[in-house]
Formats: sequence, structure tokens, C-alpha cells
Amino acid sequence: MQDGFNRRINYMRISVTDRCNLRCFYCRGVQDFEFIPHGEILSYEEILRLVRLALRLGIDRFRITGGEPLVRLGIDSLIAGITSLPGVKDISLTTNGLLLTENLERLWAAGLRRLNISLDTLDPVQFRRITGLDGLDRVLSGLGTAVSAGFDPVKVNVVLLRGLNDGDDIERFLELTFDLPVHVRFIELMDFSPVDGYFVSAPEIMEKIRRKFRLEEIEVPGSGPARSHFRAEGMKGSLGFIAPYSHHFCGDCNRLRLSADGQLRTCLFSEKTYVLKALLRGQADDETILQAISSALAEKPASRESSEGSQRRNGLRNIGG
Ligand code: SAM
Repeated sequence: MQDGFNRRINYMRISVTDRCNLRCFYCRGVQDFEFIPHGEILSYEEILRLVRLALRLGIDRFRITGGEPLVRLGIDSLIAGITSLPGVKDISLTTNGLLLTENLERLWAAGLRRLNISLDTLDPVQFRRITGLDGLDRVLSGLGTAVSAGFDPVKVNVVLLRGLNDGDDIERFLELTFDLPVHVRFIELMDFSPVDGYFVSAPEIMEKIRRKFRLEEIEVPGSGPARSHFRAEGMKGSLGFIAPYSHHFCGDCNRLRLSADGQLRTCLFSEKTYVLKALLRGQADDETILQAISSALAEKPASRESSEGSQRRNGLRNIGG
């Protein structure tokens, strides 16, 4: 499916819950907030119907995210449902890794092979500071087990946070790519975070790394907007940057987002949503829902600057990070 700016939209991120078992300060903020009531969250049947319809529009790559997707019961059954649909080219899962070890077998059996693990530090003290919990060992054990079990690729997403992980952690993450075949990607903090003052640019970190390592740029097909990838001799994995602020971003955007309560978003930086849940629960037929998705796509903004409103401070947990 082509949007109004000749971008091929083939990728949908599906948030299955707004709940999370971590409290990362830059994602959730420090204040309490209301979760979406259970009845408002899309059921797996409703999500699968939307996935089937999306496939008819040429959207054939899916990522399961949240909140924390592994806190939702039976997530493997949703994944199995998606992998069994004809035409699905790719399915992956984004997780904070806390519940990974105990879920890996079920996820593998459901057909999942690609994993993104969000992990901002390899220092247990900083881990607690950032996430509010002592959980680094559990995440690392999940990561190691996933690699041994054959998940591939295993990507580790590190949001850069000034004063928290822009020092020794950079080197520790690099060491990880020498030890294990994992792909570490440093991500620039986006401004819908509820906190200020933590932004670190990708070029700044790149500069730091280049002082120590000779990096060779590598091509990673289909790796999406604002990404660049590198390898140094001896690395089992690779190193990458996702830099929406330092690099050009929107022109390559191929994605849609479905929130846990059934709102479709065509741009991460826009507040504009399209309410699919009302159609799903209001007995709309498939053609009506297809039409709604197509109309939303036709309105996908050309760029962040041209999007309506802003997600600033609303956080990522319901949008589907
Ligand atoms: N719980 C899952 C996980 O941890 O991967 C999925 C949801 S989480 C919101 C997805 C990713 O968004 C995490 O890597 C998190 O660090 C990142 N994130 C949250 N707020 C962000 C922000 N303001 N800028 C950039 N990344 C952010």
C-alpha cells in the first residue's frame, strides 16, 4: 500500500497492553496514571481480524509491543495466530526481557524468531535508577537464553540518557556485541518523554566509539527509518543507531501503529488517531474497516513537522513503542 507521499506502508506495530512491569522514568514519568480498563483493550480475535485486513492492504510485517507484551496472558497464542496467516512476512516482539526466560519456549513454538530487547544499561545500580526495579540479571539471563535457543536476530535497544548511560555503559554494550551475536542499537530519546534534560545525540556517541574502534558501515535491508549500522573486526553482532533527530526520518517511514485500545496512528509524532475499536465492536463489515484503514493511510503526514499536535509528554506506553 502506497501512501500519499509514495511511501510503501508495509509494517504495523501492535500494542497489546498499556501495562508494564517496569517504571522507566523517561517513559512513564513519576506520577501514577490510569490504565486502560480491560474491557477497552482489543481482544486477540479483534487484533487478528485487523491483521487479516492489514494483509489485504499489503501490510505484511508486524511487531508486537506494549506496554510490556509479555505481561499479557496468552501472548504466544496471538503470535501463533499471526504467524499462521498466509502472507505474513515478518513477526517480531519488543520486550523489556524481564519475563523472557520463562516464555521463550512458548514464543518459539508460536513461530517467533526475532526479538528486540529494551535494555538501557548493563550496570545493576543504573538499571534500578532507570527502571525502578532490580532486574538486570533476569534480563541478561533471558537475553543469553534467547541467543542460545537460536532466536535471530536478537536486537538490544538502548535509549541514550545523559548522565545515566552515556559513559562506561557504551563500552559495556560494545563488549556485548563481541561476546554474543546481538545487535545493539543506540536510540535517541524522543521528545514525548515526560522528562527533560536527558537527550544525547547519536553522533556524539558515534564519535566516542570511533575513537576506540574502526567501524565499517554495513547494510541491513529493511531496517527502517533513521538507522545506520556498523561492525568492527571481531564483533559477533553489530552496532547501530536510531536517530530520529540527527538523521532524516520521515521520508522512509513505512509504519502504522495500533494502540492497545484499538486506535490507529499513522505518525508517532501526531495526536491524530483513527478509532478502529468502534468499528470492530459496532458490527462493521470488513470492507468498511478496510476503507477506514486506507483513508487513515491517505492522511499519513509527510513529516513530523507537518503532523497535527504532538505526543509530547504522553509517553509511549499506550502508543506502542
Ligand atoms: N515494554 C516493551 C519494551 O520495553 O521494549 C515495549 C514497549 S517500550 C515503550 C518500547 C521502547 O520504547 C523501549 O525501548 C523504551 O526504552 C522506548 N522508549 C520509551 N520512551 C521513549 C522515548 N521518549 N524516546 C525513545 N524511546 C523511548
